[in-house]
Amino acid sequence: MKRKVGIMGGSFDPIHIGHLVVANEALNIYKLDEIIFVPTGNPPHKEGLKADSFHRLLMVNMAVLSNNKFSVSDIEIKNPGKSYTLNTLIEFHKLYENAEFYFITGTDAIFNLPSWHRTEEILKLCRFIAASRPGISIEEVNKKINEIKEMFGGKIEILQIPMLQISSTDIRERVSMGISVKYLLPESVEQYIIKNELYRGMGTHLPV
Ligand code: ATP
Ligand code: MG
Repeated sequence: MKRKVGIMGGSFDPIHIGHLVVANEALNIYKLDEIIFVPTGNPPHKEGLKADSFHRLLMVNMAVLSNNKFSVSDIEIKNPGKSYTLNTLIEFHKLYENAEFYFITGTDAIFNLPSWHRTEEILKLCRFIAASRPGISIEEVNKKINEIKEMFGGKIEILQIPMLQISSTDIRERVSMGISVKYLLPESVEQYIIKNELYRGMGTHLPV
């Protein structure tokens, strides 16, 4: 039997409970053997990360500590060039010779997939699992998935999960405004953000 390996890419700026729930649901439903979190280095689709990759990598490590099926790879962070999912998948295929890869995203990411670098080749190297995310209708996502399959082929499935309206953007905004982010992310990550004064330099500070 081939080993089933999930890959969860993201900027994780910072990692939050939404990411962890998505990963755990994918692990359960698809009976994956493990999930590797891959924080992006310099993402081609996202400008202006707010925390240094050093901090993002550490926070992801802290968040996965209690789950022995979750691990973290610094493959994209240690690469000085732009991070491309295709390169990452090629590297993982070399590392795991007899494995089947499941690339895990939220449904929002499916809308960008056609503009990723070499979508067709990416889809040959993994299956996509798109976890439901609030604010995006399943019908819309299905329409997009069908378009992508027609254009590029591949396997993309929607995974219905208990939806969580949590985003890193919202967490960064809250921190910058001095609003509590308790329970939206692991306590260790919250402590790390406070201790290192991350996300403080943005927006208007409310008096504390
Ligand atoms: P940002 O607001 O900075 O874009 P984010 O919360 O979307 O942050 P990312 O690091 O961009 O987090 O996401 C990594 C992956 O996790 C993406 O595929 C995204 O769709 C998915 N994801 C993030 N949060 C959720 C959530 N609450 N529900 C489902 N999927 C999610
Ligand atoms: Mg995002």
